[in-house]
This record gives sequence, C-alpha cells and structure tokens, in this order.
Amino acid sequence: MKNIPDKTGHFGEFGGRYVPETLMSLLEDLEKIFKSLKSDKAFQKEFNYYLKEYAGRPTNLYLAERLSAHLKTLKVYLKREDLLHTGAHKINNTLGQVLVAKRMGKTRIIAETGAGQHGVATATAAALMGLECVVYMGAEDVERQSLNVYRMRLLGTEVIPVTSGSQTLKDAMNEAIRDWVTNVRNTFYIIGSVAGPHPYPVMVREFQAMIGQEARRQFLAKEKHLPNYLLACVGGGSNAMGLFHAFFEDKNVKMIGVEAAGTGLNTEHHAAPLSKAPIGVLHGSKSRLMQTKDGQIQIAHSIAAGLDYPGVGPEHAYYQKIGRAEYVAVTDKEAIKGLKLLSEKEGIIPAMETSHAIAYLEKLARRVKRKSSVIVCLSGRGDKDMGQIKDFI
Ligand SMILES: *Cc1c(COP(=O)(O)O)cnc(C)c1O
Repeated sequence: MKNIPDKTGHFGEFGGRYVPETLMSLLEDLEKIFKSLKSDKAFQKEFNYYLKEYAGRPTNLYLAERLSAHLKTLKVYLKREDLLHTGAHKINNTLGQVLVAKRMGKTRIIAETGAGQHGVATATAAALMGLECVVYMGAEDVERQSLNVYRMRLLGTEVIPVTSGSQTLKDAMNEAIRDWVTNVRNTFYIIGSVAGPHPYPVMVREFQAMIGQEARRQFLAKEKHLPNYLLACVGGGSNAMGLFHAFFEDKNVKMIGVEAAGTGLNTEHHAAPLSKAPIGVLHGSKSRLMQTKDGQIQIAHSIAAGLDYPGVGPEHAYYQKIGRAEYVAVTDKEAIKGLKLLSEKEGIIPAMETSHAIAYLEKLARRVKRKSSVIVCLSGRGDKDMGQIKDFI
C-alpha cells in the first residue's frame, strides 16, 4: 500500500483532481490539514469521542448462526453499522469531515445528496456542531425522497431543490461545486463516499477505516484466525472500502464488492460501473463511469437509492485492476430476496443497499469448495425503505 494514492492523488490510473482552477489551492490546503490530522492527538481524541459517545462505536461483530446454518458452507459474521446513530455507516464520515471543517475555521457546510441519506448524515453532524448547512438535491429526488427532506429540514438544514438537467444527483453535484467555488472562504464541502477529487477518496476512506480495523480485531478475538472473505455493497464504495482497507495486506482474505445490477446488466437500468463501464471523469476524479454512447453521464438505476450512483470510488477501480478485490452485481429482485432472508433468519431488517451484499451470500455459498468464513458489512438498517418495500412482501 506504499505510495497509494501517489502525490497527485492517483490510485494507479484512477483518482486525481479534475476541478476548476479556483479549487486547486483549497484542495491543497485540505490535503495538508488532512495529512497533519494523523498525528494530531487532539483531533483523534475528539473524533473518537463523538464516534463512541454520540454515534455508538464500536459496533458489534455478530455471528449470524441461523443464517450460517441455512447457507451451510459459510460462517457469517455481520459488522453491525446499522446500529449506529442515524442507522448507517455514513455518520462516521460526516462526523470526521465536520471536525475537519471546524479545524479549517469554516462556518458553513454544503453537500449534495441523491437519496437523501448522505444529506441526513451531514445535517445531523452540522446540527451537532452548530454549523450552518445547505444541501443540494435534484428536484425529482426531493419529490421521491420527501421523508429525508423533512428530516434534513427538522435538523435545521436548508434543502435546495435543483431544477437543471435531469433534476437528480449529478445536477445537484454540479450545483454544490458551483456554490463551493463561489463561497470557498467560509464553506466546507462534505462528500459522502470515497469519491471526489483528491484528497477526498483517501480522507473518506480514513474516516470509515475503523469498520475494518474493529472487525479484524473482533474476528481475531473470536476465531483466532482471519476470515476467508469480506463482503460489502458498493455504491460510491465507502462502507466497502471502510471494511476492506484494514485487510489489504492480508493476501489470503478475499474481498468482494457487490454492485447493483438493477433490472439486469444487459439493460440500461443498473448501477454497476465496475461490472460494466468504461473509464471517465465525474465529481472531480477519474474512475469507472457509466456513460451513454455519446459520452454523457448515464443515469444509474437501483432499487436501493443509496447505490444509485453512476460512478464509483477510484480506489475500487484500482483494487479491481490489480486483482485485489472482485466486483459482482446483484439485481433488484435478488436484493429483495436478500432482504427477506436476513429478516427471517436473524430478525435484522437490512437496508435495501445492504440487501445486495446479503443476496450475494447465497451465490458465494455455492461457490466455495470448503467451509469458509465471511464478514459482511451490514451498512445500514431497513426502516427507511419500508414505504418502497411494502409492494414486494
Ligand atoms: C449510502 C449507503 C450505501 C452506499 O454508499 P457507499 O459509499 O458505497 O457505502 C450503502 N449502504 C447504506 C445503508 C447507505 O446508506
């Protein structure tokens, strides 16, 4: 893992910094501050304080016995990020970034959100720190995800509907970057996954890396050896990278990221850039990116709103390229089966996103030659999805 990312923020050919000139010096400042945080005891202490006392870390590593018995060939442990405050792993990252914003003397937070989950996690952290917060959201998403809009407003955040273009995530992203360029002096842009221009992918990874660090320690304490597999769903890739990173040097631990195949990889309605997309630039960095024939960004589709992202973090594209991790895809229908499976076997209702990883367990169980162990990142709980799910049960 030495020199990854390199000085220019590249993971091999992926990553980098594709932003307007005005943002370059800001990103350089952010990079300097971020680098200094590793040895900044006061920052680490404050971050760990909020993770523990506010968010509820460390999360449990739970042996799913009935699920394991059902799968026969797999012993499954669940890393319970769903038990965190606000119900998913996203709070780890937004707590980290608001503290960085405070360090930099910024008084205003902006973010963009598609499904609203990152918007809610950002609004939560901003309220906690007493910072002004503005979230950009495509007008269509504001309609579709009204509950999250109410949550953000209740938390004191201003939600601005974006009516340009397709009125979805990518348009909200453009608006947020425009705001950032204009208000860069007092404003901090919180990005929600291991995406964006350098240093965001590595910064978000570090703010999620405790998932894997805790899981590695907890698994070793219980089993006295390392797991055979790690499994996590991949939208932008932050919960997966959070789990994977601590195991990078453990060459015998296989990593599998599960993307959303939507209605099928051979249709246009999926969100699986690692399974099926060329290289492109989105959100200030180079990675795999879903594009139309004439090079426009393809709208992603998944039953899981949080996986509905046409790009993916550059470090995942790199892990795939060097063969360190494998990426597979699960359809909407299969994900619903995963949702039911975990609910019925363990009394845990996972988020629709997480259900993709659960669904893949059935396939993995058939693939393995002898009894194997696996840690699944249970990235979030399913309460938020009940309105949508009721038609399938
Ligand atoms: C947002 C979200 C995801 C996808 O984001 P990543 O950056 O890929 O982790 C997965 N699970 C849940 C519960 C989410 O809210």
